Amino acid sequence: MSLSQESGFEQEYIQSALKSNWITSGGPHVNEFEEVLQNYFEKKSYITALNSGTSAIHLALILLGIKEGDEVICQSMTFSASANPILYQNAIPVFVDSEIDTWNICPEQLDIAIKDRIRKGKKPKAIIAVHLYGMPYKVAEVHAISEKYKIPVIEDSAEALGSSYKGKKCGSFGTFGIISFNGNKIITTSSGGALIANSIETKEEVIFYATQSKDNAVHYQHSKIGYNYRMSNICAGIGLGQMKILEENINLRRKNHFFYKEIFKGIKNVELFDNLNEDFFSNYWLNTIVLKTKKSRENLRLAFDEANIESRPLWKPMHLQPLFENYPYYGLKISEKLFENGLCLPSGSNLTNEDKIRIRGVVDNFFKND
Ligand SMILES: *Cc1c(COP(=O)(O)O)cnc(C)c1O
Repeated sequence: MSLSQESGFEQEYIQSALKSNWITSGGPHVNEFEEVLQNYFEKKSYITALNSGTSAIHLALILLGIKEGDEVICQSMTFSASANPILYQNAIPVFVDSEIDTWNICPEQLDIAIKDRIRKGKKPKAIIAVHLYGMPYKVAEVHAISEKYKIPVIEDSAEALGSSYKGKKCGSFGTFGIISFNGNKIITTSSGGALIANSIETKEEVIFYATQSKDNAVHYQHSKIGYNYRMSNICAGIGLGQMKILEENINLRRKNHFFYKEIFKGIKNVELFDNLNEDFFSNYWLNTIVLKTKKSRENLRLAFDEANIESRPLWKPMHLQPLFENYPYYGLKISEKLFENGLCLPSGSNLTNEDKIRIRGVVDNFFKND
């Protein structure tokens, strides 16, 4: 395993887990990691460490009572892990398009979708909204709709640890929030995630389901389906080390953003994805741009590729995926356009000055006649 960025403390925590024989799921590092996370969220949330962000979304759906045939609204422009757990429950995803300011779930289309689903006979049971690439979605508008229709929000904050909206941390707005500590995220436990809840009772319920739903008895007794979703003590040790450099990583990612802002300044055919206004604070997990056409997007990607610099198209919207294309979708093709014309730029916390010089070289050369 290689961590893109180490604090140096990870080894110590792993060693202490091994020495104390806590090589299990759960354990003292897990409890401490949860405490550190809860402090990070200003002790207003109850956080359970799990083995992935996907497990966290799945448990959120289970705790909201999502069952076979229920409808769950999901932002279409996202990574498939936001939507897959809906299918684990044999429920029906209903996809909603993005709006152009934050690229996240469009409040107008969300309202239209809910009204139409109710008219067709089924009120959606949950809304999965995503802070894509670390950019907060329009929290005020989306949660106003959630309150209007009394539909809970699962806030997919997998990419947005350290982002905030109006000074409040992303992950703490929904009935449930989820974070991911997968290898590619802003900090990692190698593989891991967490579920953020609003009460200690809910956290206890999360732990119950995540540890095989053992009823309160001396023998193993079960009356609910159980899951093996708890974080391991070793992974939590890595997480404790990583939490020490979370702020530093956010600063590095933001520095990447200001670097891109500088090199794309004055190039009129490129729009760098940026905070809409002061209410929005992105961790800039990934820096992304939109070009005028699909062709220019592909040509720039190839130019980077030729210089051995990896860049990638944006997430392909879920309603365009073979797996999901037959489910309902509400939108105006905003996410389609973003997918066609958008590009993710190299954005790791470990981007060196030399990398930046090479990136600038490709960009300057590509746009020299613009
Ligand atoms: C990474 C990610 C997840 C899933 O997290 P894992 O820890 O990899 O299971 C969910 N949603 C989004 C938007 C993600 O980027």
